[in-house]
Amino acid sequence: MTFTLAIVGRPNVGKSTLFNRLAGKRLAIVDDTPGVTRDRRMAEGRIADLEFRLIDTAGLEEGDPGSLSDRMRKQTEAAIEEADVAILLYDARVGLTTMDEHFAKLLRRSKTPIILAANKCEGKFIQQGIYEAYALGMGDPIALSAEHGEGLGDLYQALVETLQEIGIDPHAEEEIDEEAERRAREANTGPEEGDLNYEFEDPEDEDEEVKPLRLAIVGRPNAGKSTLINELIGEDRMITGPEAGLTRDSIGVDWEWDGLPVRIYDTAGLRKQARISEKLEKLSVADTMRAIQFAEVVVLLLDAELGVEKQDLKIAERVVEEGRALLIVLNKWDAVENRLEVQRAFEDALTRSLPQIKGVKTVTLSALTGKGLQRLMPAVEEVYEIWNARVPTAAFNRWLHEKLEKHPAPSVNGRRIKMRYGAQIKTRPPTFAIFCNLPDDVPDSYVRYLENELRRDFDLPGVPLRFIMKGSA
Ligand code: GDP
Ligand code: GDP
Repeated sequence: MTFTLAIVGRPNVGKSTLFNRLAGKRLAIVDDTPGVTRDRRMAEGRIADLEFRLIDTAGLEEGDPGSLSDRMRKQTEAAIEEADVAILLYDARVGLTTMDEHFAKLLRRSKTPIILAANKCEGKFIQQGIYEAYALGMGDPIALSAEHGEGLGDLYQALVETLQEIGIDPHAEEEIDEEAERRAREANTGPEEGDLNYEFEDPEDEDEEVKPLRLAIVGRPNAGKSTLINELIGEDRMITGPEAGLTRDSIGVDWEWDGLPVRIYDTAGLRKQARISEKLEKLSVADTMRAIQFAEVVVLLLDAELGVEKQDLKIAERVVEEGRALLIVLNKWDAVENRLEVQRAFEDALTRSLPQIKGVKTVTLSALTGKGLQRLMPAVEEVYEIWNARVPTAAFNRWLHEKLEKHPAPSVNGRRIKMRYGAQIKTRPPTFAIFCNLPDDVPDSYVRYLENELRRDFDLPGVPLRFIMKGSA
């Protein structure tokens, strides 16, 4: 069991039924009568090859239907605090209730990732209940039938994706021995090309409450990555980690900035430090990609003495494609003379080549002298917050209608595209669904128009924004 999954939601949506289904054993009483008190239960759960610890919050009485009872709130909070991932279940036959909205609100405040699932979806698919759910701003709901065991494949998929996002390897336990052995072996021989495909995590670390901000520092060779990381976290720490070889073999290093836990992934610096004689002169694409995938925020370090090159743009493009938050750092600022001009030239070149990151923030500093370094982490935090930003549904729809009025969607083959409404369905990066009559025919140029307007109107620079067109009758 490598992670903990909580099932939460109002009474009678089918939490116990789902719990029993995933636990594979009927451990709990299922009762139609709301208000039957049961204890919060735990079990070993499983879907296919995913094994986990399961927490269920069934058995809560429905008190005042307009609000959450104290007990319900406390139970739910305790469960999600313990969990790595939570499923918020609602009843698609009934549709969203005020109570569901209260739960959603409670969960949105927590750091635990939430998978929204619509239960009782067997047989005739309950469209309305699914559409409504977008208003919760928690992403695409998964259609389930706990009773009939339907939709578990989608749930599996969502779990795997979510775990990946938060950096948990669901199969870690099986690999721990292998991994330890590999680490020991590599400490002697150095990692092989293409190795280090995962992060080694001490199983005890899994209960960590505050999840660190995952930061990657990438850039071409000689941009100054090692120098920057040394300056940030201190050389001593890197060379003499708690155990020899720690910083070398793992690809992340834990650090704290002003009380904020940060895990830094770097492409060359950490390992290069340990194997300085083997300094690679070519950019390791695989390392860069890996660091980007692990990261939430990617710092692209550029040598301000040189211009923007194709390789830099390629990396930036990958960051956008992977949906990570991007921050550009112009390093070696100490060596630059006509600073205003240089900064503008970099910004122009970036915007021209990558309109998707319009307004991306650039920070100038010198890793060597430390000058300007204090600007780095606040900028990282800022772009991280934008990446996590949530545009309220009402505001989004007001905005959408304004845009549609000002600049209507074009006609395609004589048919008018009608966009009805939309909602932010995901953060990290901000992702919006828009329901319209001809979802496949909306021209890219129009989507880009909406994207640019949204970025400007809601002040969301430096992060990719995603738009998904969905069909509606
Ligand atoms: P809980 O209070 O959230 O734990 O809900 P229960 O698991 O006790 O389920 C409440 C009721 O919904 C029971 O009558 C279940 O049989 C029923 N139920 C649960 N899952 C499904 C489902 O997938 N489809 C249908 N039609 N009913 C379900
Ligand atoms: P990496 O390959 O990206 O890890 O780059 P390094 O950290 O090894 O730095 C490459 C070279 O650039 C080294 O000679 C550094 O001393 C130099 N360097 C790094 N940062 C700065 C800086 O801020 N200013 C100047 N002038 N040189 C720097």
